[in-house]
Amino acid sequence: MAKKVHIPIQLIIEHRAIAHLFKTKVYDWIRDQKVALISGSGKTRKVTEEIIDVISGQASAIQVMTCEDNTLDTINELERKVLEDTPDMIFGVGGGKALDVSKVVGTRSNVPVVLFPTAISSDAICSPVAVIKMLNKSTSIGVKMPQGVVIDLDILASCPPRLMSAGIGDLLSNKSALFDWDLAHRAGKEEMNTFARLMANNAVDSFLNVLNREEVDPSRLMKTAAESLIMSGIAMSIAGSSRPCSGSEHLISHAMDYHCGAKALHGEQVAIGVLFAQHLQGKREKVERLLPYYEKLSLPTHYEDLGYTREEMLRAVRKAPSMRNRYTIFNEFELTDETIDKMLDEVYPDHARNRYQLTGSSAG
Ligand SMILES: [Zn+2]
Repeated sequence: MAKKVHIPIQLIIEHRAIAHLFKTKVYDWIRDQKVALISGSGKTRKVTEEIIDVISGQASAIQVMTCEDNTLDTINELERKVLEDTPDMIFGVGGGKALDVSKVVGTRSNVPVVLFPTAISSDAICSPVAVIKMLNKSTSIGVKMPQGVVIDLDILASCPPRLMSAGIGDLLSNKSALFDWDLAHRAGKEEMNTFARLMANNAVDSFLNVLNREEVDPSRLMKTAAESLIMSGIAMSIAGSSRPCSGSEHLISHAMDYHCGAKALHGEQVAIGVLFAQHLQGKREKVERLLPYYEKLSLPTHYEDLGYTREEMLRAVRKAPSMRNRYTIFNEFELTDETIDKMLDEVYPDHARNRYQLTGSSAG
């Protein structure tokens, strides 16, 4: 039986995408319609103003709502405004939190959402999952896919490199996540959706293919990263869960958030988690090693560069298997504190330290 899958109708990834919005279907959608913009703070405000300039002659009304965080209080407040003002469409503008909040508010109020990512720091730019903060802890929840995604490559080009590193970390994690999904399938714990698997794998491979070319055009690499993160989001939509893009490496990142103070960006932590996950997976069978790409992409290779101590990293690995009920490589090992300690030396050697600078803005 065929399955119904939700994917965005419009994907626009180009230079000057916002200035050229009037040439697109997204512009047609808002003709004489009420639009609510949910905007992040900081630099995002300027992008929001650019969008307003372009759509002001087309939409019948434009309402701007600022989103400072992704807490349940903020979401409830914005949902109340949306229910009062009854917009026909929500435009979510921002680096991370504003996109997640827009997806949640759109899902709860049944209003279609178009996302305008101002950074590609994770696969949240086009996924059926949103991270929200409840009782000071981050939780992932299922949401509707956006109806459209508009990415202006000129805006991405001016982002702190740290955000792009985080996005690529989140993308590379598909490899260890798919390894874990295969394990779960073989152990009879989970269904495999081969099409979702193919998409999530190809998302990484198409990015690595561009990276492996002799001359890498940074703009082309950025566009491919954005496309690959979108493909990852669609793979999740096909699978009906985050499974194709989230395995043991994400459990480590979730444990860093939950038990060690969430000191770095999601994708940066996932990049660190991938190294440990692949080390463990390599003990079961041959896995694709991604470390050489870390060098090439200047991704973080040591947890201390993200602000975590040895003790915290040990705790994150120890707690990772309990973060959610998901069969991964962790289920195939009995890890004691001693074995984790030994592995930390192997996965994160001294020379992997002090290679990554925690600079630039957060993904808000
Ligand atoms: Zn992720």
